[in-house]
Amino acid sequence: MEGILDPILQSGEFILLRNLCTLFFIVLHIALTFWSYRDADRRGAMGWFWALAVFLFPLAGWAVYLVVRPPEFIDDAHERELEIRAKEVALQRDFESCPSCRQPVEKDFLICPACMKKLRKPCIECDKALKLNWKVCPFCKTKQQ
Ligand SMILES: [Zn+2]
Ligand SMILES: [Zn+2]
Repeated sequence: MEGILDPILQSGEFILLRNLCTLFFIVLHIALTFWSYRDADRRGAMGWFWALAVFLFPLAGWAVYLVVRPPEFIDDAHERELEIRAKEVALQRDFESCPSCRQPVEKDFLICPACMKKLRKPCIECDKALKLNWKVCPFCKTKQQ
């Protein structure tokens, strides 16, 4: 059997193909290393450490990285934090405090449940809670006496 494949193995086409394959894997290896660096960096992990690990142990390093990498990007985590803060602010806006006793009151309370101070008046038409100085109901456009 020995030597039967020699003409194929030594042909120019085979060597070219082999070189192309080698080149392909080298490019893939570099791309994977670079990708690991960028991905780890964006997730707040040690980019250089993981790039080195993937470079030294091409498949094993990459597989380990995919398992242990932080689950989300730093940008995403930051964005989520901003979102939560915006929601908190919006939530706070729905609550007010009584100008007289400082107890928290909801914005459609007519009187303060703690000190009985009059906070709002009901619209004469639709019954929605209006500020005491509003001349017209913004919900149903009815003029208030
Ligand atoms: Zn009060
Ligand atoms: Zn109204």
